Amino acid sequence: MAEIKIGDLVIGGRQKVMIAGPCSIEGRDQLLEIAREVKAQGAQMLRGGAYKPRTSPHSFQGLGPQGLFHLKEAAEETGLITVTEVMEPEELDLISKYADVLQVGARNMFNYPLLKRIGKMDKPVLLKRSFMATIEEFLLASEYILKEGNRRVMLCERGIRTFDTMTRNTLDLASVPILKKMSGLPVIVDPSHATGRSDIILPMTLAGLIAGADGVMIEVHPNPKKALSDGLQSLDLPHFRELIDEYNSLCKYLDNREEHRAMNIVRGAAS
Ligand code: PEP
Ligand code: MN
Repeated sequence: MAEIKIGDLVIGGRQKVMIAGPCSIEGRDQLLEIAREVKAQGAQMLRGGAYKPRTSPHSFQGLGPQGLFHLKEAAEETGLITVTEVMEPEELDLISKYADVLQVGARNMFNYPLLKRIGKMDKPVLLKRSFMATIEEFLLASEYILKEGNRRVMLCERGIRTFDTMTRNTLDLASVPILKKMSGLPVIVDPSHATGRSDIILPMTLAGLIAGADGVMIEVHPNPKKALSDGLQSLDLPHFRELIDEYNSLCKYLDNREEHRAMNIVRGAAS
């Protein structure tokens, strides 16, 4: 199983990673407030979009470079590792200067020229599954990056489009163990985009961990009703604290289980 090291953080090992933050970076104060809170709650990584791939061209498109400056400032103050989306090869150099991890979103999973360029970079990548991609297409997209030499790839299951309308997408939990087994790469679950509903983020977070995810990515906003994007699926700060409590208990349980399993293997080998 590949482990990805980013500073002191190891992804894909025993410790699960919590990635939290707003859908979009809306301003300095908004981002700093969220960053301080998620750091205080134990998150290791801060997410936040500066370049947003919105379904409608009339929706908020992100703050662009100004958003990146805020992200860097939040990282410097809190020590959080940052991840932000890149949509075009032309943005790669600038975004790489300001963020630790490059996110390729669902809409760009099939953008092979972008994947190839990122494959040539020395930068960790969070590759999200397209809502229209089979598991095989997702794995092949990751190979576009790996083939060029960049081995620091994390896969993110963020839900796929199905006939159901109760959720924004359908979280494909079965993809988690399959992706892990077939790729050996760390897998992150994004219950926010997978459901589109803040009221079911908690159970889907726990389900993702039980399915074997190496971490989760959660959208958080101090005032979801006023969010400029994805407010319906964003947790407010009190609900994020509640989620973290249950997340920590489950992580502890899973870690103990891992320890027992490792001990049994050692015992089995010795007998
Ligand atoms: C996001 O993470 O902000 C995002 C746009 O997600 P996705 O690409 O999965 O829709
Ligand atoms: Mn979003």
